[in-house]
Amino acid sequence: MQVGVVTIFPEIFDAVTGFGTIRRAIKSGNLEFESFNIRDFASDRRRTVDDRPYGGGPGMVLMPEPLAACIDAARQRVEGPVIYLSPQGDRLDQKMVRELAELSGMILVCGRYEGIDERIVKTRIDQEISIGDYVISGGEFPAMVMLDAIVRLLPGVLGNEESALQDSFSDGMLDCPHYTRPERFEGLDVPRVLLSGNHQEIQRWRHDQALDWTRNRRPDLLDSCGRPQEKIN
Ligand code: SAM
Repeated sequence: MQVGVVTIFPEIFDAVTGFGTIRRAIKSGNLEFESFNIRDFASDRRRTVDDRPYGGGPGMVLMPEPLAACIDAARQRVEGPVIYLSPQGDRLDQKMVRELAELSGMILVCGRYEGIDERIVKTRIDQEISIGDYVISGGEFPAMVMLDAIVRLLPGVLGNEESALQDSFSDGMLDCPHYTRPERFEGLDVPRVLLSGNHQEIQRWRHDQALDWTRNRRPDLLDSCGRPQEKIN
């Protein structure tokens, strides 16, 4: 998959391209990552990319000309939809992540300040995506969150031992509790069934725990997928 990011802070992405899952995906050739600096497309010596909002009010707005030129440059190199990370976008969930992971590429546009000039949304943006109902200072972290979630699903990126198929939301439920050594920690024992070696019993226990967690913490997930609320055999 090819991913281009359009940003005024390309260096922020070093935090993910140099570590963990995303680094592994780049090294193995599953991910081609390229950043595009909006300031490189500014027309003045000070590399200005923002200006005051028409109509007055606080804050600044990312100007249309450098942003348009930067997106157009990214489109020359990266195929796929141009996605603006925005609080006004469709809320990201695992279903959307699965759909995005099927794409061969995408361009992620990171806003700053009060956001981007609306004419860029009209002329350049195919989709707006939000990571949740809260506001942060820029689109870089939302882009990194989305990228990490997508890359986990690319074939061959995760090892078997950390398969994304067992994660929360992959089957409409939350994950189950996990334990590792020692068998007793501060008076708390690992559930006996996990030490039994009986894989069918372990699978049943994990499923029941996941169902309990989901029922208690996120009943909306069960409602939305219509999953019967009983134990498997
Ligand atoms: N004035 C905007 C509003 O109230 O909706 C907030 C702008 S925010 C300070 C600056 C940039 O951060 C946005 O243009 C967007 O790219 C990004 N951003 C902030 N919160 C986000 C969220 N929940 N999801 C995705 N992107 C977000």
